[in-house]
Amino acid sequence: MSEWIVGIDLGTTNSEVAVVRAGQVEVIPVAVGVRILPSVVGLGDDDSLLVGEAARNQYALHPERSVRSIKRRMGESTTVQMGSQEFAPQEISAMILRRLREIAEAHLGEAVSKAVITVPAYFSDAQRQATREAGEIAGLDVVRILNEPTAAALAYESSRRGARKAIVYDLGGGTFDVSVVNLEGDVVEVLASHGNNHLGGDDFDQKLVEHAIEHLAQTQQLDVRQQPLVLARLQRAAEAAKIALSAQPFATLSEEYLCEKDGLPVHLSLEISRRAYEEMIADYIGETIEAVHIALRDAGLAVADISEVLLVGGATRTPLVQRRLEEELRLQPRAELDPDLCVAMGAAIQAAVISGAQAPSVLVDVTPYTFGTSALDEYEGEMYPYCYVPLIRKNTPIPVSRSEVFHTVHDGQKKVEVNVYQGEDPDALNNISIGRFLVEGLRDAPAGNPVVTTFSLDLNGILHVSAREKETGLQHSITIDRAISRFSGDKLNEARERIAAIFADQEDDAASAASTAALPVEAASGDADETARRLRVEARALIEKGERLLATASGEDADDLVNGIESVKEAITGSSSELKAAIDVFADLLYYLDA
Ligand code: AMP
Repeated sequence: MSEWIVGIDLGTTNSEVAVVRAGQVEVIPVAVGVRILPSVVGLGDDDSLLVGEAARNQYALHPERSVRSIKRRMGESTTVQMGSQEFAPQEISAMILRRLREIAEAHLGEAVSKAVITVPAYFSDAQRQATREAGEIAGLDVVRILNEPTAAALAYESSRRGARKAIVYDLGGGTFDVSVVNLEGDVVEVLASHGNNHLGGDDFDQKLVEHAIEHLAQTQQLDVRQQPLVLARLQRAAEAAKIALSAQPFATLSEEYLCEKDGLPVHLSLEISRRAYEEMIADYIGETIEAVHIALRDAGLAVADISEVLLVGGATRTPLVQRRLEEELRLQPRAELDPDLCVAMGAAIQAAVISGAQAPSVLVDVTPYTFGTSALDEYEGEMYPYCYVPLIRKNTPIPVSRSEVFHTVHDGQKKVEVNVYQGEDPDALNNISIGRFLVEGLRDAPAGNPVVTTFSLDLNGILHVSAREKETGLQHSITIDRAISRFSGDKLNEARERIAAIFADQEDDAASAASTAALPVEAASGDADETARRLRVEARALIEKGERLLATASGEDADDLVNGIESVKEAITGSSSELKAAIDVFADLLYYLDA
């Protein structure tokens, strides 16, 4: 019988449990479609124990029977009150761990008695010991206490890319940590760590709640500060608006029947622009950027020494966070992994290694290209109509949808042209133009009329671009098939020839075509999509393996590897049959070199 070791991210706001099964990292669902368990514990009306979402839901109304953020108290020799009883912090944490253990057991269908649990790099011995005890109370033998930034680096496989220094920027719901780590082989060393364990996405929600409270005071002469139920609803609406603003330029904080005034219902509907929201949270983000510099100084390093920035924690999805980090560190932060889950994934990878397995890879589907549009803006000191505005950045997990707002330039402007490009160059004209359309019939308005442009990229590489006049809803759109596989000029001819050759081969060898699932090149069926997705994931795993072998290869072998990697990388952008052919050739080469 196998003995499972699970990986657990025991977070301040949320916790997750993951495991490596059949060489794959799985974050285990805590409910249908949900892989995050709120780190909240409570007693229900009938004194039954509530853990997770149910406890979180009752928190606003029954704080005296609920406990949250217990992680902040770990290592203290105090107790917290829940209902009529007192509990040590370890005991509350143990309730969360026990629930995660039960969830893992139900999922795996077997008993789970061992775990790797993560803690912040700055945790003291006492805090680590308390975490270990919490595990034991929950019936788990804690085989390793792992630093969170180390877990994140394991999940991102940063250490496998050669010796390097990285920054792990972790902004969760209620805590912020930044760590500078040294990565070498399988060893991840935390060089310095800094943060604020009372700063996170919840503070961003609070800014929006305050904004709504002021709005109600001004427009309705209402003071809701003493109404816990109203505040709880505002909090929920604020979080939803905040999350929406990560993907779109406007969101509406709305709650029907929020409360009553003079016997009449009060509805809230308050639009917020991303720009206004970013102003509200700018100081918080400024504080985190300062912390990054402090951690760098403590590690004795300069910005130029850093080769990677890894994002951890749900609040790092905030575009302003990513923008500010990129400005400061001149590196596009890595965000391919789900920032809520990557610490648990890293813990599971560590658990697998402890149980003797080879470190598995985390496979994700990402876009290999950046897609964007052009707008009039300042470029090299002059106004230029083709400044590139990227909307979907390369290495973003797909499917993804992102919107931005643009404004008309002239009074009475009746139409706008939306250009769609693939590429990275700040001058849009140096990128590959992949589509263009007009939005005509705009209302008669002064310059500055907002038009919201949305890019949505699906798993099949189909890019849908729409532009909507905000005030009227007038909308036009285009769909660009196979945006991920777009070729320019010569490459297109080359690809055509290659595909023709593959088809000729397939006709010659029907048996082999059948054995490769006979990928119909343009088939739009769900199966074909899934096959294409699997091929891309396989291709990236092979590239990764090739790059690893390259570190020790020399001479002809190295040349072959470089060529092989290049051809698979190129083929990722092509059709499934093309990719399959490239994979087969490259897999043979790897087999030969690895032997
Ligand atoms: P964590 O503690 O890592 O689970 O992070 C939770 C925090 O991330 C909460 O404040 C969430 O509201 C926030 N969060 C989750 N998704 C997003 C998003 N798409 N944009 C901004 N914040 C988010």
